[in-house]
Amino acid sequence: MLQMDVARLKRLSGESARFELLVDLPPLEVQGETASFCGPVSARLVVSNTGAVLLAQGEVAGKLGLTCDRCLELFEYAFVLPFEETYRPVPGGEETGPEGGREETESVPFSGDLLDITPEVLNGLILALPMKALCRDDCPGLCPHCGSNLGVGQCSCESEKIDPRFSVLKDFFDKKKE
Ligand SMILES: [Zn+2]
Ligand SMILES: [Zn+2]
Repeated sequence: MLQMDVARLKRLSGESARFELLVDLPPLEVQGETASFCGPVSARLVVSNTGAVLLAQGEVAGKLGLTCDRCLELFEYAFVLPFEETYRPVPGGEETGPEGGREETESVPFSGDLLDITPEVLNGLILALPMKALCRDDCPGLCPHCGSNLGVGQCSCESEKIDPRFSVLKDFFDKKKE
């Protein structure tokens, strides 16, 4: 988990501390599918004690294994996400649910000496993922006839390919002939 020991920082208003993390994270649930991280996730952050809250700012980077929407192959999606979140220290036990109170105050409550930014990082990552995951921008996808991956090599049914739009026209003309 992306955790930082802020025991000292919590007591020093106006101070800030630099953190560099390198951690393995469990697989991520994205739209009902499970995506595993390829290697550890790194984070470089500066956490500042503003007096009222802890402000964490920095960058999180890593690689996520995604399935290409076109060719269905697994590929590594590299991400570098800017991160900024405000954490409000609350006495132990008083912590509301992860989403509770979030909307009103725009800060995330936390208690104890460990600041865990994992949920916010994962939420940010899910929002940053492309709507269509492609192994490469020009991925040709699968042959609609035999299903072979055209990114790996041309299949043998190239000559028989009929554009679906033309096949509709063909049906139309065939019907007219009858
Ligand atoms: Zn692909
Ligand atoms: Zn084919």
